Amino acid sequence: MDLILFGIQGSGKGTQGKILKDRYDTAYFETGAELRRLSKEDSKLGKKVKEIIEAGHLVPNEIVMEIVENFLKNVPKGKNVIFDGIPRKMEQAQSLDALLEKHGREYKAVILDLSEQVALNRLTLRRICSKCKTVYPADYENDMCERCRGELITRSDDNPESIKTRIKAYFDETMPVINMYLEQGKLLRINGEQSIEAVSKELFETLDPIYK
Ligand code: AMP
Repeated sequence: MDLILFGIQGSGKGTQGKILKDRYDTAYFETGAELRRLSKEDSKLGKKVKEIIEAGHLVPNEIVMEIVENFLKNVPKGKNVIFDGIPRKMEQAQSLDALLEKHGREYKAVILDLSEQVALNRLTLRRICSKCKTVYPADYENDMCERCRGELITRSDDNPESIKTRIKAYFDETMPVINMYLEQGKLLRINGEQSIEAVSKELFETLDPIYK
């Protein structure tokens, strides 16, 4: 059973996703990271994706789906996948559904619930490691990554304009997908406004019966 992770930007989706990946030994598809990697390529496509990401808009569906399809081809048989950052709009949910069905895969979805205000505060103040990309919250006081000693920087799309655009896209485009999964009985809800440890604990309680 695959797992689709939902949550407003800053909800801790990436942090929790990686904890779940380790606990349940799954493969992990982080859409934003895959696209950021593509955006660094010195090609026409790379430059186009870079511009879209920095403005906070969604990258065209065909580009995203091609990356997912390539990823799925390399997932070993029997390995579950955690999807982080996809689907982000209805058209993408339909493409992803079709792709998963084609590969004979089933999924559940989980959402980390967080208010817009808390999300805004977290995004404005968070920093990431320039080398290993670990995310550090506002109250982390050092300027150096505790894992790899890389320098902590602000993500280039964590600027006020882009944050506003991304949050609007979340409500306008992703929320209808979340509501659809809720109606279909595929969605599990977790309170994302707790400490990292408390959110993980709630996730384990909900997901252990499925994955352990
Ligand atoms: P994230 O790291 O999830 O915040 O994603 C960073 C940026 O990558 C987003 O603001 C979009 O520009 C792009 N992106 C991530 N996921 C998707 C997706 N599923 N569809 C289209 N664009 C995406």
